Amino acid sequence: KRLILIGPPGSGKGTQSPLIKDEYCLCHLATGDMLRAAVAAKTPLGIKAKETMEKGELVSDDLVVGIIDEAIKKPSCQKGFILDGFPRTVAQAEKLDEMLGKQGTKIDKVLNFAIDDAILEERITGRWIHPPSGRTYHTKFAPPKTPGLDDVTGEPLIQRKDDTAEVLKSRLEAFHRQTAPVIDYYSKKGNVAQLHAEKPPKEVTAEVQKALA
Ligand code: ADP
Ligand code: ADP
Ligand code: ADP
Repeated sequence: KRLILIGPPGSGKGTQSPLIKDEYCLCHLATGDMLRAAVAAKTPLGIKAKETMEKGELVSDDLVVGIIDEAIKKPSCQKGFILDGFPRTVAQAEKLDEMLGKQGTKIDKVLNFAIDDAILEERITGRWIHPPSGRTYHTKFAPPKTPGLDDVTGEPLIQRKDDTAEVLKSRLEAFHRQTAPVIDYYSKKGNVAQLHAEKPPKEVTAEVQKALA
């Protein structure tokens, strides 16, 4: 399967991804994770993206399209993939269709993590992450066994620099202005499934499974 997860920051895309990935053996391509790795490694791409990401704005289409183009050509992604956080603009969606067209493939399903903005501040400001694995915790909704440490490895958890109430405002603005039109773009093709992303994680997982059955 070739899937796209769309939703505002904190809607639960990263939380649901591992479950979908394991069930269908897909590769998980999260442009935000890839960009943060590039920033940490101070690669030319990371140096270009850092400031824009800290402001909560979208990096240029060319930067992320390049990353995805490379990733979806990998042998490990031929059976299918989950795009998490991409495409974020209609221009990115058009480029993606073009890349897939060249492979003779297409997107099977777009999962829309629909949720009210009001819930997201609490989710984002309480988020803690274990970057090597991508495991996500929440101080209130999904606390680690030991505060600040990953349950599996015992390694330290981090908070993202852009996970503040202030930067969230810019990220939500970018979402509504630039990413919401991507949902309309795929709705016209008729392959969008609506999820109730405000529900507890297990209920969202059940909706995902129903949408992909
Ligand atoms: P996204 O990848 O869409 O930005 P995450 O999956 O990282 O969102 O979730 C953001 C935060 O909210 C995390 O701390 C996560 O543990 C928590 N969370 C995820 N899904 C739910 C849910 N259904 N209900 C409550 N909290 C959730
Ligand atoms: P979240 O999980 O909170 O939805 P991401 O981790 O997907 O956020 O993205 C973090 C930041 O990385 C974004 O605010 C943006 O600056 C950049 N980014 C990620 N994916 C894209 C994309 N497809 N297009 C442009 N910028 C992106
Ligand atoms: P159970 O005790 O039934 O096994 P869990 O321990 O998985 O359930 O979850 C306990 C509570 O925490 C539930 O309300 C669930 O919705 C919430 N929860 C579980 N995982 C997450 C997560 N990743 N993000 C946010 N909330 C979560």
